Amino acid sequence: MRILLVEDNLGDARLLREMLSEAHTHPTELSHVTSMLEAEYYLESKPFDLILLDIGLPDAQGAPAILRARKAAPNVPLVVLTGYDDTALASIALQHGAQDYLIKGEIETRGLIRALRYAVERKSMQSAVFAEKERAQATLNCIGDAVACTDNAGNITFLNEAAEKMTGWSLLEATGRSMAETFVILDATTRRLVSLEVATPGEERSASSMPPNCILIRRDGFEVPIEDSVSAIFDQDGNAEGAVIVFRDVSAARAMSGQMLRLAKHDFLTGLPNRMTLYDRIDQAISLAPRHQKRVAVLFLDLDGFKHINDSLGHSTGDKLLQSIAKRLVDCVRSSDTVSRQGGDEFVVLLSEVEIPDNTDITARRMLHAVAEPHTINQHQLHITASIGTSVYPDDGLDAETLIKNADTAMYQAKENGRNSSQFFKSAMNVRAVQRQGIEESLRVALKREEFSVHYQPKVNLVTQEITGAEALLRWTNPVRGSVSPVEFIPVAEDSGLIVPIGNWVLRQACIQAKQWKDVGLPIRNIAVNISAIEFRNEAFLDGVLAILEETNLDPTCLELELTESALIKHAEAAGSILKTLRHLGVQVAVDDFGTGYSSLSYLRKFAIDSLKIDQSFIHQIGASTEETTIVTAVIGMARGLNLKVVAEGVETRQQAAFLLDSQCDEAQGYYFSRPVAPQEFAKLLRENPMDRRVH
Ligand code: C2E
Ligand code: MG
Ligand code: MG
Repeated sequence: MRILLVEDNLGDARLLREMLSEAHTHPTELSHVTSMLEAEYYLESKPFDLILLDIGLPDAQGAPAILRARKAAPNVPLVVLTGYDDTALASIALQHGAQDYLIKGEIETRGLIRALRYAVERKSMQSAVFAEKERAQATLNCIGDAVACTDNAGNITFLNEAAEKMTGWSLLEATGRSMAETFVILDATTRRLVSLEVATPGEERSASSMPPNCILIRRDGFEVPIEDSVSAIFDQDGNAEGAVIVFRDVSAARAMSGQMLRLAKHDFLTGLPNRMTLYDRIDQAISLAPRHQKRVAVLFLDLDGFKHINDSLGHSTGDKLLQSIAKRLVDCVRSSDTVSRQGGDEFVVLLSEVEIPDNTDITARRMLHAVAEPHTINQHQLHITASIGTSVYPDDGLDAETLIKNADTAMYQAKENGRNSSQFFKSAMNVRAVQRQGIEESLRVALKREEFSVHYQPKVNLVTQEITGAEALLRWTNPVRGSVSPVEFIPVAEDSGLIVPIGNWVLRQACIQAKQWKDVGLPIRNIAVNISAIEFRNEAFLDGVLAILEETNLDPTCLELELTESALIKHAEAAGSILKTLRHLGVQVAVDDFGTGYSSLSYLRKFAIDSLKIDQSFIHQIGASTEETTIVTAVIGMARGLNLKVVAEGVETRQQAAFLLDSQCDEAQGYYFSRPVAPQEFAKLLRENPMDRRVH
């Protein structure tokens, strides 16, 4: 033990040195100085385990001596030497941080040694406690949770930094104040004061929590949502000594969970309620409607050509456009109504209290207007329109799902009727949609089940009444549906793409049939097959025709393809080269249903085509309407001028035939000559060729 003895009385010093040297069990190394100044110098330059300090030094007496020594070596234990009559000073020494005191004249060796040893032990324990407390405080200040301690009376004894921040009270200001004063805590829902109940001794030592959803009113009145736990502190005997309260500022957590809740109910792009929320609101509106004797309308809005904007200008522009539209739609309705986005470019609007269903059309129109106004996005002026379908509760459906589905159906109808329009749902639409679906299902298996057949209708030279050719017309007889008209199933086949394999089958059948008739010497010049726009557009179309011609070995000049104007004009570029190839092969091309589409003869002149088939709607009007009659004569005249053969479709009467003959129409096709018939019957017609119908 390295001891610094600070003693100006040399006799006393010698005495102590002797005592210490006697203590063999505790070897000591003694340095002796006679003044405080010297002691300070020593303490600075050498390590000591203990200071023995006389507090009657010439340069320092009493408490100041102790303080100077402690200041010079705060961590070195201190034992004070006092005169025998100076016990008051002894207790002051202890208060000022000395570990012990010895009264001169009463010192004996063993007592001295014990005092020194205890002093060292006590000092190290004090340091350990201090370090522990420091560490605890540092830890408490580091954690994000607010920690407050109270004594048994409920007064604050400690706040960590987080607690200071959250409450707005500093530790210094709060210390000694009551818990209730510094921590004003309310139940967020009831706004009632919450008192912190701390477990009392004898009870389970578990943390008791406050009600959920509490807010702390900060000193400046600001509200902080908190979660907490409170627990009692017990002393060694189990007596409550106070409480520790741990608070957490859950603003961020609550904001996050609020945000998540919002996300779950809203569309992230537009912030509008999403599909799930819409369903809830519709259900709610439906449940309230009868009580108020009101109706509920669901408007399904789909943008026209949005995909084009998205593809050409990019998704971010598309997204901004959707946001702009969302805002405008919201402005079109009352706050009690709901505008939601279903995804993509589809919006569904719920009008919750409708008195007259027709009024919803006014809202629908307002929306169409709002959408159609130009949108300025990234310096682009974007123009877009929408189509709206409307369904009304209870007329068109009793639940959210049916109402939305029917509004969707009506929206499709609106699109078909031309865009930028709105349409009410009619139950007939639904029936049709269901029917179409059924037809599609049956069509999928019809080829495999061999439910198709081909009938042939003669084309007749009006002058000689010879059969010049036949139009192949597809027939479908389904075991359940019976015979289904092409007018009904061809559009479904086109929509579903089934027209490609089906058309291919018809073409092959017709070629096989023509080849067979030719081979047996029946007088047929060509066979005409209808090609729908979808087939024509298909890349493999031309190769398919070539393959079938090769496979069936039919002379290409015996094949005629009937295409509609729109099939040609919509795919003008591809059409041009395909038609050239066909002409090169000798395959004939006819424009079917002429007059119902673009009716642009000059345009058609660019294509390699051979004949025009005037649509039957004009032929049926012959005689009845001068205007249509004039069209027929004009078309015949122009076609002849362009060197095209003209065929009249749907000729049903002698008068029509006579008129066409007089107008120099080349050929006719229609019930007046023959209905489309099965192959055997057609063969019979060919054998009886020419036909024998009165025309004049
Ligand atoms: P389309 O090519 O204009 O065929 C003429 C339609 O008029 C046929 O109806 C025919 O039966 C009918 N028709 C013929 N003469 C008369 C008449 O004097 N009066 C009346 N009212 N109608 C007459 P169909 O067979 O019902 O076919 C309807 C349409 O279905 C066809 O019109 C054609 O566009 C399409 N189609 C028929 N078969 C096929 C096929 O194999 N492929 C494709 N893509 N379409 C086909
Ligand atoms: Mg046709
Ligand atoms: Mg036709």
